[in-house]
Amino acid sequence: MTGLVMPDLDRAVLARRDGIVHALRAIVPGEGVVADPTSMRVYESDGLTAYRQMPMVVVLPETVDQVSRVLAYCHAEGIKVVPRGAGTSLSGGALPLGDAVLLSMMKFNRVLDVDFPNRVAVVQPGVTNLGITRAVEERGFYYAPDPSSQIACSIGGNVAENSGGVHSLKYGLTTNNVLGLEMVLMTGEVVRIGGRHLDSEGYDLLGLMVGSEGLLAVVTEVTVRILQKPETARAALIGFPSSEQAGAAVAAIIAAGIIPGGMEMMDKPAIAAAEAFVHAGYPLDVEALLIVELDGPAVEVADLLVRVEAIANTHGATECRLSTSEAERLSFWAGRKAAFPAVGRLSPDYYCMDGTIPRAALPLVLRRMGELSQTHGLRVANVFHAGDGNLHPLILYDANIPGELERAEAFGADILRLCVEVGGVLTGEHGVGVEKRDLMGTMFGEDDLKQQQRVKCAFDEKQLLNPGKVFPELHRCAELGRLHVHGGALPHPDIPRF
Ligand SMILES: Cc1cc2nc3c(=O)[nH]c(=O)nc-3n(C[C@H](O)[C@H](O)[C@H](O)COP(=O)(O)OP(=O)(O)OC[C@H]3O[C@@H](n4cnc5c(N)ncnc54)[C@H](O)[C@@H]3O)c2cc1C
Repeated sequence: MTGLVMPDLDRAVLARRDGIVHALRAIVPGEGVVADPTSMRVYESDGLTAYRQMPMVVVLPETVDQVSRVLAYCHAEGIKVVPRGAGTSLSGGALPLGDAVLLSMMKFNRVLDVDFPNRVAVVQPGVTNLGITRAVEERGFYYAPDPSSQIACSIGGNVAENSGGVHSLKYGLTTNNVLGLEMVLMTGEVVRIGGRHLDSEGYDLLGLMVGSEGLLAVVTEVTVRILQKPETARAALIGFPSSEQAGAAVAAIIAAGIIPGGMEMMDKPAIAAAEAFVHAGYPLDVEALLIVELDGPAVEVADLLVRVEAIANTHGATECRLSTSEAERLSFWAGRKAAFPAVGRLSPDYYCMDGTIPRAALPLVLRRMGELSQTHGLRVANVFHAGDGNLHPLILYDANIPGELERAEAFGADILRLCVEVGGVLTGEHGVGVEKRDLMGTMFGEDDLKQQQRVKCAFDEKQLLNPGKVFPELHRCAELGRLHVHGGALPHPDIPRF
């Protein structure tokens, strides 16, 4: 792994591997325990493929009771556990640890109940994001958060990463669409929070769990909100002579009280790549392209499109096309949806970043990113959820050229620092994982981080669930209870800092 320091391997656990595998097989019989290196190879990385690590053993439970017993056993024996869904995380959240059980939840793949009158679906965590829509679309419903990976990623992973997509601007991220969870704590206890109702009394534990990146509990059931499909959806394809003008138009559309179903932006390199790839009919003489989708009753959509066009024109748009058919709307989206693989054709490798900024900072950030591109000597293409201020710069590099991966990582880190500097955050939807772990200090002070770790301790006192992710330093829970530093000496110097 390039420069990534993970917690030290627990040699005592590794020495007991055969016995551990045997004990796990007693809990999850049949093919539910995978221990030979060849079969485990497919689990060695997630979507952040720059980092690879073979797990100690892979376990694929099928029942909540099995999850509970596996966790209780690992808790008693001091064995680390890394939960995993479909393994599409782009931040390394599901990266295995060499001395840990990799707990794959993909056999939890059933839709348990669809409750149309209450507009909820109850699903197991291994159901794919798109699988939920597929289960309810016959009656005109859908599940709104739509990550581009929706055909593959699991709802359990979505919960852990608080995933979003094009429609999150209007319909919210995962956190706004999950109503209840069943989860198993590291001790093996099964806990339920929320349900089919809108709000719960007491602390907002549901809010805490969504986005907790597999560090607090293993999710075994998810209750989600389902929505009725809007009557109409139409899109505008708008070209601008500069990214600054496109960014200003985005802010003005929102300021006018219009909340599009999606509002996406691409810069010139991304437009050229997408057009060459799918021939979507994008204009090639513009510096920035906006796709603005309005959905709702047909009359309202028609009115809003006219207003969006007028706002775009006042911000210097040089081209504006309004979709007049479903086929045309889909053709506007075709290039955007293919943008990542299209950019992949420009260079052997690319590194997808994910930071969020206040919308008004978009022009400044794009300019500074151009300067950083010069400094690091690497090209960058920009595709982003403009309405949310969620950037996805794609840094182009060649892993076969020594040093380029490290330069791409340094460039990415500078972009994320820039996001924080302008009042934004390190991640919009991909999570911290291992990728942004060491940058957490640019956003949070030491006290903030310790307070967050105390929350982790409340759920997982032995720090066995997905350690090495999110937090740049490991603190023992006992240490976090005593914060006195005597004579400037760091307490517990034996604890690994990574
Ligand atoms: C091509 C591509 C496009 C993408 N586009 C988007 C996008 O548009 N928007 C977006 O938000 N993301 C996107 N992603 C990132 C990724 O798909 C999401 O983060 C997704 O939610 C991960 O789901 P997963 O099932 O693959 O989880 P994994 O990668 O397996 O795991 C992700 C995290 O969730 C934890 N986890 C998984 N299951 C459970 C569980 N049952 N209980 C507790 N913790 C669990 C893991 O420990 C890990 O920390 C994209 C990824 C790719 C490869």
